[in-house]
Amino acid sequence: MKILVINSGSSSLKYQLIDIENEVVLAKGLCDRIGIDNSLLKHTKKGSDTVILEKELKDHRDAIKEVISTLTDENLGVIKDMSEISAVGHRVVHGGEKFHDSVIIDDDVIKGIKECIELAPLHNPPNIIGIEACRQLIPDVPMVAVFDTAFHQTMPEHAYLYALPYDFYKKYGIRKYGFHGTSHKYVAQRAAAMLNRPLEELKLISCHLGNGASVCAIKYGKSVDTSMGFTPLAGLAMGTRSGSVDPAVVSFLIDKEHLTVQQVNEYLNKKSGVLGISGVSSDFRDLHEAAEKGNKRAKLAIDIFCYRVKKYIAEYSAVTEGIDAVIFTAGIGENNDVVRAKVTEGMQYLGISIDPEKNKIRGKEIDISTPDAKVRTLVIPTNEELAIAKETYKLVSRK
Ligand code: AMP
Repeated sequence: MKILVINSGSSSLKYQLIDIENEVVLAKGLCDRIGIDNSLLKHTKKGSDTVILEKELKDHRDAIKEVISTLTDENLGVIKDMSEISAVGHRVVHGGEKFHDSVIIDDDVIKGIKECIELAPLHNPPNIIGIEACRQLIPDVPMVAVFDTAFHQTMPEHAYLYALPYDFYKKYGIRKYGFHGTSHKYVAQRAAAMLNRPLEELKLISCHLGNGASVCAIKYGKSVDTSMGFTPLAGLAMGTRSGSVDPAVVSFLIDKEHLTVQQVNEYLNKKSGVLGISGVSSDFRDLHEAAEKGNKRAKLAIDIFCYRVKKYIAEYSAVTEGIDAVIFTAGIGENNDVVRAKVTEGMQYLGISIDPEKNKIRGKEIDISTPDAKVRTLVIPTNEELAIAKETYKLVSRK
């Protein structure tokens, strides 16, 4: 069975065609600069070099049309026609309180996703455009929406509510939603497989450390708390996002710097995090290079990042009342041994201890704990596209 996975952003659209039985990516690519000059399609067929095709992509419908024609192209393609695609899985960022799980897309689901636009004004509209374009072009193929927020809908009220006037929750849905749910769920399932134990018995702390970063407390297979909040700005210090700050800083800055709401949002989302502290880069490879050359602020940025991850692990060990395993995933979590070492340093009191030799390994599933450690520390590469394809397969085969 072949599943097409679509991740539709404001001016880009990523796709992967996955053979779900063998978990093999047959082709993948990116439509970039949609609706802007010089739009292009980057396409990689399994076993072949990436090709870059200049295409006029006026909108997402054009982009999906090009994806279909490339996938069925005599030379670049991997299928004869679209009837070979059994289903399409769409990544949707925000499912609010409406969607606790992935769902088969119908008119009501689209209406529900539209009702969540207010909560994710930048992300949900392009997700919907991608879904609607697919429905127009391939109306007979079943489609599934997989939400970044759905996994966290199991959080208890005392974890997701902010201590704000309760009316704001009722009126506007202001609460913690959490993000990266597809990734946290996927790596939790992989952790259970690696530990050869049922997920329903495990207490896990999943650290998704990429340009966007979040920690999730997973008790018996369910998310019970997570560091991102109402938006993906909360929690850890990230590439360019501040993570949690005292909310009074916002009004202080608006006053002192005469900022508009939009400008202060821009500071918190695009100019803060490790970029803001270091003044060097949002990319950890650049930060390490600068720190090694003696740049103090680059070193400080790395220290702040690791300090927060460490604090969340300890905090969430109280939430889950013990830990079986800590998981490191995403760009930094999978590849950055220095960050993993710094985060886990001095955590023997919780049972966490890693083997420096094993920790050198990057980008593959491995248990890096010392043999005597009570808590396993696992490196697990995330694969959100495969997770979306699996969810899609599960739902369409149930039909
Ligand atoms: P992501 O958003 O998951 O793609 O993660 C991006 C982050 O992962 C960036 O800060 C990269 O510097 C970091 N990263 C990716 N590969 C490596 C690597 N080999 N060593 C250190 N950091 C890495």
